[in-house]
Amino acid sequence: MNRTRRPRAWIVPALLVAGVSGACADREAAQPNLILVSIDTLRADRLGAYGYERNTSPHLDALAARGVRFETVIADSNWTLPAHVTLFTGLPPSFHGVTGPRDKMQTGIPTLTEVLKQHGYRTFGVTGGGFLDGSHGFDRGFDRYGLKPLDLRTALDLVVRVARQLAPEERYFWFVHTYDVHCPYHPPPRYARLFDRSPAADRIETRDRCGNPHYNGMALTPGQARFLSDRYDAGIRYADDLLGAFFERLESEGRLRNTIVVVVSDHGEEFLEHGQIGHRNTQFIESLRVPWIMAGPGLERRVVTQPAALADVMPTLLDLLGIPAPAVEGVSLLPFIEGRGADRPPRTLFSEDPLVDLYSAIHGGRHVIHRGAAGDPLLFDWRDDPREASNLFEAKPESDAELRLELDERVRRLADLRSRRQPEAAPVASEEQRERLRALGYVE
Ligand SMILES: [Zn+2]
Repeated sequence: MNRTRRPRAWIVPALLVAGVSGACADREAAQPNLILVSIDTLRADRLGAYGYERNTSPHLDALAARGVRFETVIADSNWTLPAHVTLFTGLPPSFHGVTGPRDKMQTGIPTLTEVLKQHGYRTFGVTGGGFLDGSHGFDRGFDRYGLKPLDLRTALDLVVRVARQLAPEERYFWFVHTYDVHCPYHPPPRYARLFDRSPAADRIETRDRCGNPHYNGMALTPGQARFLSDRYDAGIRYADDLLGAFFERLESEGRLRNTIVVVVSDHGEEFLEHGQIGHRNTQFIESLRVPWIMAGPGLERRVVTQPAALADVMPTLLDLLGIPAPAVEGVSLLPFIEGRGADRPPRTLFSEDPLVDLYSAIHGGRHVIHRGAAGDPLLFDWRDDPREASNLFEAKPESDAELRLELDERVRRLADLRSRRQPEAAPVASEEQRERLRALGYVE
Protein backbone atom coordinates (compact mmCIF):
# COMPACT_ATOMS: atom_id res chain seq x y z
CA MET A 1 0.00 0.00 0.00
CA ASN A 2 1.20 3.43 -0.86
CA ARG A 3 1.73 5.21 2.44
CA THR A 4 1.73 8.74 1.11
CA ARG A 5 2.06 11.14 3.98
CA ARG A 6 -0.95 13.35 4.41
CA PRO A 7 -0.06 17.02 3.97
CA ARG A 8 -0.72 19.43 6.76
CA ALA A 9 -3.82 21.57 6.54
CA TRP A 10 -3.43 25.22 5.63
CA ILE A 11 -3.07 27.51 8.52
CA VAL A 12 -2.46 30.67 6.61
CA PRO A 13 -0.70 32.86 9.17
CA ALA A 14 1.51 29.97 10.29
CA LEU A 15 2.47 29.25 6.70
CA LEU A 16 3.35 32.85 6.05
CA VAL A 17 5.40 33.12 9.20
CA ALA A 18 7.12 29.80 8.63
CA GLY A 19 8.02 30.58 5.04
CA VAL A 20 8.29 27.92 2.38
CA SER A 21 11.93 27.50 1.56
CA GLY A 22 13.84 24.32 0.79
CA ALA A 23 13.86 23.57 -2.90
CA CYS A 24 15.00 20.47 -4.73
CA ALA A 25 18.51 20.73 -6.03
CA ASP A 26 17.95 19.11 -9.40
CA ARG A 27 15.31 21.42 -10.81
CA GLU A 28 15.35 22.47 -14.40
CA ALA A 29 15.34 26.23 -14.22
CA ALA A 30 13.65 26.75 -17.57
CA GLN A 31 10.53 24.81 -16.61
CA PRO A 32 7.60 27.15 -15.92
CA ASN A 33 5.35 27.32 -12.91
CA LEU A 34 1.80 26.09 -13.36
CA ILE A 35 -1.39 27.60 -11.95
CA LEU A 36 -4.49 25.51 -12.61
CA VAL A 37 -7.77 27.26 -11.83
CA SER A 38 -11.01 25.29 -11.75
CA ILE A 39 -14.08 27.51 -11.74
CA ASP A 40 -16.69 24.99 -10.68
CA THR A 41 -19.92 24.89 -12.75
CA LEU A 42 -18.79 27.26 -15.49
CA ARG A 43 -20.50 26.77 -18.85
CA ALA A 44 -18.35 27.60 -21.84
CA ASP A 45 -21.14 29.42 -23.65
CA ARG A 46 -21.40 32.05 -20.90
CA LEU A 47 -17.94 33.44 -21.65
CA GLY A 48 -17.27 36.12 -24.26
CA ALA A 49 -14.40 34.06 -25.65
CA TYR A 50 -16.95 31.36 -26.48
CA GLY A 51 -19.40 33.76 -28.11
CA TYR A 52 -21.55 35.03 -25.23
CA GLU A 53 -23.03 38.44 -25.93
CA ARG A 54 -22.83 39.67 -22.32
CA ASN A 55 -19.61 41.06 -20.93
CA THR A 56 -19.19 38.37 -18.29
CA SER A 57 -15.53 37.57 -18.83
CA PRO A 58 -13.28 40.36 -20.11
CA HIS A 59 -10.21 39.03 -18.31
CA LEU A 60 -10.66 35.39 -19.28
CA ASP A 61 -11.32 36.59 -22.83
CA ALA A 62 -8.03 38.50 -22.70
CA LEU A 63 -6.27 35.38 -21.39
CA ALA A 64 -7.71 33.41 -24.31
CA ALA A 65 -6.73 36.15 -26.76
CA ARG A 66 -3.07 35.93 -25.77
CA GLY A 67 -2.98 32.15 -25.42
CA VAL A 68 -4.76 28.94 -26.28
CA ARG A 69 -8.49 28.32 -26.19
CA PHE A 70 -10.01 24.90 -26.77
CA GLU A 71 -13.25 25.42 -28.64
CA THR A 72 -15.05 22.18 -27.73
CA VAL A 73 -14.31 20.71 -24.31
CA ILE A 74 -16.60 18.03 -22.93
CA ALA A 75 -16.66 17.20 -19.24
CA ASP A 76 -16.22 13.49 -18.54
CA SER A 77 -18.99 13.72 -15.95
CA ASN A 78 -21.76 16.16 -15.09
CA TRP A 79 -20.84 16.54 -11.44
CA THR A 80 -17.99 17.77 -9.32
CA LEU A 81 -16.32 14.77 -7.71
CA PRO A 82 -15.80 12.38 -10.65
CA ALA A 83 -15.02 15.26 -13.03
CA HIS A 84 -12.27 16.66 -10.80
CA VAL A 85 -10.75 13.22 -10.27
CA THR A 86 -10.63 12.97 -14.06
CA LEU A 87 -8.91 16.35 -14.22
CA PHE A 88 -6.21 15.11 -11.84
CA THR A 89 -5.77 11.57 -13.17
CA GLY A 90 -6.42 11.76 -16.93
CA LEU A 91 -8.89 8.90 -16.47
CA PRO A 92 -12.67 8.93 -17.09
CA PRO A 93 -14.84 8.14 -14.05
CA SER A 94 -15.33 4.38 -14.55
CA PHE A 95 -11.58 4.10 -15.13
CA HIS A 96 -10.55 5.93 -11.96
CA GLY A 97 -13.46 4.39 -10.05
CA VAL A 98 -14.79 7.50 -8.31
CA THR A 99 -18.42 7.52 -9.44
CA GLY A 100 -20.32 7.89 -6.16
CA PRO A 101 -20.36 10.59 -3.48
CA ARG A 102 -18.50 8.43 -0.92
CA ASP A 103 -15.79 7.16 -3.26
CA LYS A 104 -12.17 8.17 -2.79
CA MET A 105 -9.31 8.48 -5.26
CA GLN A 106 -7.36 5.24 -5.25
CA THR A 107 -3.80 5.64 -4.05
CA GLY A 108 -2.36 3.48 -6.84
CA ILE A 109 -3.48 5.93 -9.52
CA PRO A 110 -0.97 8.76 -10.01
CA THR A 111 -2.26 12.32 -9.95
CA LEU A 112 -1.04 15.41 -11.76
CA THR A 113 0.09 16.79 -8.42
CA GLU A 114 2.16 13.72 -7.56
CA VAL A 115 3.87 13.68 -10.94
CA LEU A 116 4.74 17.37 -10.68
CA LYS A 117 6.03 16.87 -7.16
CA GLN A 118 8.21 13.99 -8.32
CA HIS A 119 9.70 16.41 -10.85
CA GLY A 120 10.66 19.00 -8.30
CA TYR A 121 7.60 21.22 -8.13
CA ARG A 122 6.40 22.72 -4.87
CA THR A 123 2.71 21.88 -4.79
CA PHE A 124 -0.08 23.94 -3.26
CA GLY A 125 -3.85 23.73 -3.46
CA VAL A 126 -6.86 25.61 -2.20
CA THR A 127 -10.47 24.66 -2.67
CA GLY A 128 -13.99 25.81 -2.02
CA GLY A 129 -14.40 22.53 -0.10
CA GLY A 130 -17.31 20.15 -0.63
CA PHE A 131 -16.22 17.18 -2.71
CA LEU A 132 -12.72 18.58 -3.11
CA ASP A 133 -11.70 18.32 0.48
CA GLY A 134 -8.96 15.93 1.50
CA SER A 135 -11.35 13.11 2.43
CA HIS A 136 -11.78 12.23 -1.24
CA GLY A 137 -8.04 12.11 -1.78
CA PHE A 138 -7.51 15.45 -3.50
CA ASP A 139 -4.77 16.41 -1.04
CA ARG A 140 -2.46 13.68 -2.34
CA GLY A 141 0.87 14.99 -3.58
CA PHE A 142 0.36 18.51 -2.24
CA ASP A 143 2.90 20.08 0.08
CA ARG A 144 -0.01 22.11 1.38
CA TYR A 145 -3.67 21.59 0.58
CA GLY A 146 -6.41 23.82 1.94
CA LEU A 147 -8.70 21.70 4.04
CA LYS A 148 -10.75 24.74 4.98
CA PRO A 149 -12.87 26.18 2.16
CA LEU A 150 -11.53 29.49 0.89
CA ASP A 151 -13.34 32.06 -1.22
CA LEU A 152 -11.64 32.92 -4.49
CA ARG A 153 -10.40 36.34 -3.41
CA THR A 154 -8.62 34.90 -0.37
CA ALA A 155 -7.29 31.97 -2.38
CA LEU A 156 -5.76 34.17 -5.08
CA ASP A 157 -4.30 36.46 -2.47
CA LEU A 158 -2.65 33.43 -0.89
CA VAL A 159 -1.16 32.35 -4.23
CA VAL A 160 0.51 35.75 -4.63
CA ARG A 161 1.78 35.84 -1.05
CA VAL A 162 3.26 32.35 -1.24
CA ALA A 163 4.81 33.06 -4.65
CA ARG A 164 6.63 36.02 -3.08
CA GLN A 165 8.13 33.75 -0.43
CA LEU A 166 9.49 31.14 -2.81
CA ALA A 167 13.05 31.38 -4.01
CA PRO A 168 13.24 32.54 -7.64
CA GLU A 169 14.49 29.15 -8.79
CA GLU A 170 11.74 27.20 -7.04
CA ARG A 171 9.06 25.97 -9.39
CA TYR A 172 5.54 25.64 -8.15
CA PHE A 173 2.16 24.16 -9.02
CA TRP A 174 -0.89 25.87 -7.65
CA PHE A 175 -4.37 24.39 -7.88
CA VAL A 176 -7.15 26.85 -7.17
CA HIS A 177 -10.76 25.64 -7.06
CA THR A 178 -13.74 27.90 -6.45
CA TYR A 179 -17.52 27.58 -6.12
CA ASP A 180 -18.10 31.32 -6.70
CA VAL A 181 -20.14 30.57 -9.82
CA HIS A 182 -21.97 27.56 -8.35
CA CYS A 183 -25.45 27.66 -6.81
CA PRO A 184 -26.62 29.50 -4.63
CA TYR A 185 -25.63 32.21 -7.13
CA HIS A 186 -24.76 34.80 -4.52
CA PRO A 187 -22.15 37.23 -5.85
CA PRO A 188 -21.48 40.42 -3.88
CA PRO A 189 -24.38 42.94 -4.11
CA ARG A 190 -22.79 45.25 -6.66
CA TYR A 191 -22.30 42.27 -8.97
CA ALA A 192 -25.71 40.75 -8.26
CA ARG A 193 -27.37 43.73 -9.95
CA LEU A 194 -25.06 43.73 -12.95
CA PHE A 195 -27.19 41.69 -15.34
CA ASP A 196 -30.42 41.70 -13.37
CA ARG A 197 -33.40 42.93 -15.37
CA SER A 198 -36.03 40.99 -13.45
CA PRO A 199 -39.23 42.40 -11.95
CA ALA A 200 -39.49 42.00 -8.17
CA ALA A 201 -41.83 39.00 -8.55
CA ASP A 202 -39.11 36.97 -10.24
CA ARG A 203 -36.41 37.65 -7.64
CA ILE A 204 -36.53 34.49 -5.59
CA GLU A 205 -34.45 33.41 -2.62
CA THR A 206 -31.70 31.08 -3.77
CA ARG A 207 -30.21 29.77 -0.56
CA ASP A 208 -31.03 26.24 0.58
CA ARG A 209 -32.46 25.29 -2.77
CA CYS A 210 -29.33 24.08 -4.53
CA GLY A 211 -29.10 20.58 -5.84
CA ASN A 212 -32.78 19.89 -6.23
CA PRO A 213 -33.47 19.69 -9.95
CA HIS A 214 -36.89 21.22 -9.41
CA TYR A 215 -35.64 23.78 -6.97
CA ASN A 216 -37.23 22.28 -3.88
CA GLY A 217 -40.51 21.61 -5.62
CA MET A 218 -40.91 25.14 -6.91
CA ALA A 219 -42.57 25.30 -10.29
CA LEU A 220 -40.15 27.92 -11.55
CA THR A 221 -41.44 30.37 -14.11
CA PRO A 222 -39.22 31.27 -17.06
CA GLY A 223 -38.77 34.69 -15.45
CA GLN A 224 -37.49 33.17 -12.21
CA ALA A 225 -35.11 30.91 -14.12
CA ARG A 226 -33.87 33.99 -16.00
CA PHE A 227 -33.25 35.71 -12.67
CA LEU A 228 -31.13 32.77 -11.49
CA SER A 229 -29.32 32.71 -14.81
CA ASP A 230 -28.60 36.47 -14.54
CA ARG A 231 -27.20 35.91 -11.07
CA TYR A 232 -25.05 33.11 -12.42
CA ASP A 233 -23.67 35.47 -15.07
CA ALA A 234 -22.94 38.02 -12.36
CA GLY A 235 -20.99 35.38 -10.43
CA ILE A 236 -18.91 34.73 -13.53
CA ARG A 237 -18.12 38.43 -13.86
CA TYR A 238 -17.16 38.54 -10.18
CA ALA A 239 -14.78 35.59 -10.54
CA ASP A 240 -13.46 37.06 -13.77
CA ASP A 241 -12.70 40.41 -12.12
CA LEU A 242 -10.88 38.68 -9.26
CA LEU A 243 -8.83 36.69 -11.76
CA GLY A 244 -8.12 39.84 -13.77
CA ALA A 245 -6.74 41.60 -10.69
CA PHE A 246 -4.75 38.45 -9.86
CA PHE A 247 -3.18 38.30 -13.32
CA GLU A 248 -2.33 41.99 -13.04
CA ARG A 249 -0.58 41.48 -9.71
CA LEU A 250 1.43 38.55 -11.05
CA GLU A 251 2.32 40.55 -14.14
CA SER A 252 3.36 43.65 -12.21
CA GLU A 253 5.64 41.50 -10.03
CA GLY A 254 7.16 39.83 -13.08
CA ARG A 255 5.74 36.43 -12.16
CA LEU A 256 3.77 35.73 -15.32
CA ARG A 257 6.88 35.49 -17.48
CA ASN A 258 7.58 31.96 -16.30
CA THR A 259 4.10 30.84 -15.34
CA ILE A 260 1.49 28.96 -17.32
CA VAL A 261 -2.05 29.83 -16.23
CA VAL A 262 -4.79 27.33 -17.04
CA VAL A 263 -8.51 27.91 -16.47
CA VAL A 264 -11.01 25.07 -16.75
CA SER A 265 -14.31 23.97 -15.27
CA ASP A 266 -15.63 20.59 -14.19
CA HIS A 267 -19.13 20.78 -15.75
CA GLY A 268 -21.75 23.30 -16.76
CA GLU A 269 -25.19 24.28 -15.45
CA GLU A 270 -28.78 24.19 -16.64
CA PHE A 271 -31.31 27.00 -16.29
CA LEU A 272 -34.58 25.32 -17.22
CA GLU A 273 -33.50 24.57 -20.79
CA HIS A 274 -34.55 20.98 -20.09
CA GLY A 275 -36.83 21.35 -17.11
CA GLN A 276 -34.47 21.79 -14.18
CA ILE A 277 -31.93 23.99 -12.45
CA GLY A 278 -28.41 22.77 -11.74
CA HIS A 279 -26.29 19.94 -13.09
CA ARG A 280 -27.76 16.93 -11.37
CA ASN A 281 -28.65 13.85 -13.42
CA THR A 282 -28.44 15.77 -16.67
CA GLN A 283 -26.10 15.58 -19.63
CA PHE A 284 -27.51 18.08 -22.07
CA ILE A 285 -24.85 20.22 -23.71
CA GLU A 286 -25.21 23.10 -21.21
CA SER A 287 -24.10 20.68 -18.47
CA LEU A 288 -21.17 19.18 -20.37
CA ARG A 289 -19.46 21.88 -22.44
CA VAL A 290 -16.84 23.71 -20.41
CA PRO A 291 -14.00 26.15 -21.09
CA TRP A 292 -10.30 25.37 -21.26
CA ILE A 293 -8.12 28.41 -21.65
CA MET A 294 -4.41 28.80 -21.00
CA ALA A 295 -1.60 31.23 -21.56
CA GLY A 296 2.05 31.52 -20.69
CA PRO A 297 5.56 30.91 -21.94
CA GLY A 298 5.72 28.72 -25.03
CA LEU A 299 2.04 29.11 -25.82
CA GLU A 300 1.22 30.98 -29.00
CA ARG A 301 -2.21 32.36 -29.73
CA ARG A 302 -4.41 29.61 -31.04
CA VAL A 303 -7.94 28.28 -31.02
CA VAL A 304 -7.81 24.49 -30.92
CA THR A 305 -10.80 23.01 -32.72
CA GLN A 306 -9.91 19.38 -32.04
CA PRO A 307 -12.48 18.23 -29.45
CA ALA A 308 -11.04 17.88 -25.96
CA ALA A 309 -12.03 16.06 -22.78
CA LEU A 310 -11.15 16.93 -19.19
CA ALA A 311 -9.14 13.70 -19.23
CA ASP A 312 -6.82 15.38 -21.74
CA VAL A 313 -5.81 18.18 -19.37
CA MET A 314 -3.31 16.17 -17.29
CA PRO A 315 -1.38 14.57 -20.20
CA THR A 316 -1.45 17.84 -22.14
CA LEU A 317 -0.05 19.91 -19.28
CA LEU A 318 2.66 17.36 -18.52
CA ASP A 319 3.60 17.19 -22.20
CA LEU A 320 3.78 20.97 -22.29
CA LEU A 321 6.19 20.89 -19.34
CA GLY A 322 8.28 18.12 -20.92
CA ILE A 323 7.37 15.64 -18.19
CA PRO A 324 6.41 12.07 -19.16
CA ALA A 325 2.79 11.31 -18.33
CA PRO A 326 1.67 8.06 -16.70
CA ALA A 327 -0.51 5.71 -18.75
CA VAL A 328 -3.87 7.48 -18.95
CA GLU A 329 -6.97 7.46 -21.16
CA GLY A 330 -6.77 11.16 -21.99
CA VAL A 331 -4.40 12.24 -24.75
CA SER A 332 -1.91 15.07 -25.01
CA LEU A 333 -3.27 17.80 -27.26
CA LEU A 334 0.12 19.49 -27.50
CA PRO A 335 0.35 18.78 -31.26
CA PHE A 336 -2.84 20.82 -31.75
CA ILE A 337 -1.57 23.58 -29.48
CA GLU A 338 1.50 23.74 -31.69
CA GLY A 339 -0.54 23.62 -34.89
CA ARG A 340 0.69 20.19 -35.96
CA GLY A 341 -2.37 18.04 -35.30
CA ALA A 342 -4.67 18.86 -38.18
CA ASP A 343 -4.49 15.45 -39.85
CA ARG A 344 -5.80 13.50 -36.85
CA PRO A 345 -9.25 11.95 -37.36
CA PRO A 346 -12.12 13.53 -35.42
CA ARG A 347 -12.84 11.79 -32.13
CA THR A 348 -15.88 10.86 -30.11
CA LEU A 349 -16.03 12.21 -26.57
CA PHE A 350 -17.95 10.53 -23.78
CA SER A 351 -19.44 11.55 -20.48
CA GLU A 352 -20.86 9.35 -17.76
CA ASP A 353 -22.86 9.31 -14.54
CA PRO A 354 -23.24 5.59 -13.87
CA LEU A 355 -25.09 6.20 -10.59
CA VAL A 356 -28.16 7.15 -12.62
CA ASP A 357 -27.34 5.18 -15.79
CA LEU A 358 -26.70 8.34 -17.78
CA TYR A 359 -24.13 8.45 -20.57
CA SER A 360 -23.32 10.70 -23.54
CA ALA A 361 -21.36 10.47 -26.74
CA ILE A 362 -20.50 13.57 -28.74
CA HIS A 363 -19.04 13.46 -32.22
CA GLY A 364 -18.90 16.73 -34.12
CA GLY A 365 -22.27 18.39 -33.55
CA ARG A 366 -24.04 15.13 -32.83
CA HIS A 367 -24.86 14.30 -29.22
CA VAL A 368 -26.45 11.01 -28.17
CA ILE A 369 -27.70 10.63 -24.59
CA HIS A 370 -28.28 7.15 -23.17
CA ARG A 371 -30.87 7.25 -20.40
CA GLY A 372 -31.05 3.59 -19.41
CA ALA A 373 -34.47 2.57 -18.22
CA ALA A 374 -35.69 6.16 -18.52
CA GLY A 375 -36.47 5.68 -22.18
CA ASP A 376 -35.16 5.85 -25.73
CA PRO A 377 -31.89 7.63 -26.34
CA LEU A 378 -31.94 11.31 -27.15
CA LEU A 379 -30.20 12.70 -30.20
CA PHE A 380 -29.32 16.32 -30.83
CA ASP A 381 -27.18 18.43 -33.10
CA TRP A 382 -25.91 20.98 -30.60
CA ARG A 383 -24.10 23.06 -33.19
CA ASP A 384 -27.25 23.62 -35.28
CA ASP A 385 -29.48 23.61 -32.22
CA PRO A 386 -27.39 25.06 -29.33
CA ARG A 387 -30.23 24.70 -26.81
CA GLU A 388 -30.80 21.07 -27.80
CA ALA A 389 -34.50 21.74 -28.22
CA SER A 390 -35.16 19.28 -31.08
CA ASN A 391 -34.75 15.61 -30.30
CA LEU A 392 -33.78 14.17 -33.68
CA PHE A 393 -34.31 10.61 -32.45
CA GLU A 394 -38.07 11.14 -32.31
CA ALA A 395 -38.31 12.02 -35.97
CA LYS A 396 -35.69 9.62 -37.27
CA PRO A 397 -34.80 6.91 -34.76
CA GLU A 398 -32.56 5.07 -37.21
CA SER A 399 -30.29 8.06 -37.82
CA ASP A 400 -26.76 8.23 -36.41
CA ALA A 401 -26.86 4.50 -35.68
CA GLU A 402 -23.07 4.31 -35.68
CA LEU A 403 -22.69 6.86 -32.89
CA ARG A 404 -25.42 5.16 -30.86
CA LEU A 405 -23.70 1.80 -31.27
CA GLU A 406 -20.42 3.40 -30.22
CA LEU A 407 -22.09 4.70 -27.07
CA ASP A 408 -23.74 1.32 -26.34
CA GLU A 409 -20.35 -0.34 -26.63
CA ARG A 410 -18.84 2.27 -24.32
CA VAL A 411 -21.58 1.76 -21.72
CA ARG A 412 -20.89 -2.00 -21.71
CA ARG A 413 -17.15 -1.46 -21.40
CA LEU A 414 -17.53 0.97 -18.50
CA ALA A 415 -19.86 -1.43 -16.65
CA ASP A 416 -17.25 -4.16 -17.08
CA LEU A 417 -14.53 -1.86 -15.74
CA ARG A 418 -16.58 -0.93 -12.69
CA SER A 419 -17.38 -4.56 -11.96
CA ARG A 420 -13.65 -5.24 -11.64
CA ARG A 421 -12.73 -2.20 -9.58
CA GLN A 422 -13.54 -1.76 -5.92
CA PRO A 423 -13.37 1.95 -5.08
CA GLU A 424 -11.94 3.08 -1.79
CA ALA A 425 -14.44 4.65 0.55
CA ALA A 426 -13.94 8.17 1.81
CA PRO A 427 -14.07 8.57 5.60
CA VAL A 428 -17.46 9.43 7.05
CA ALA A 429 -18.06 13.14 6.46
CA SER A 430 -17.86 15.45 9.44
CA GLU A 431 -20.87 17.59 10.25
CA GLU A 432 -18.93 20.59 8.89
CA GLN A 433 -18.32 18.80 5.60
CA ARG A 434 -21.95 17.72 5.40
CA GLU A 435 -23.08 21.29 5.99
CA ARG A 436 -20.82 22.52 3.17
CA LEU A 437 -22.15 19.85 0.82
CA ARG A 438 -25.70 20.66 1.85
CA ALA A 439 -25.23 24.35 1.07
CA LEU A 440 -23.95 23.40 -2.38
CA GLY A 441 -26.89 21.09 -2.89
CA TYR A 442 -25.12 17.76 -2.70
CA VAL A 443 -26.77 16.29 0.40
CA GLU A 444 -30.50 15.86 0.75
ZN1 LIG B 1 -18.74 21.00 -9.85
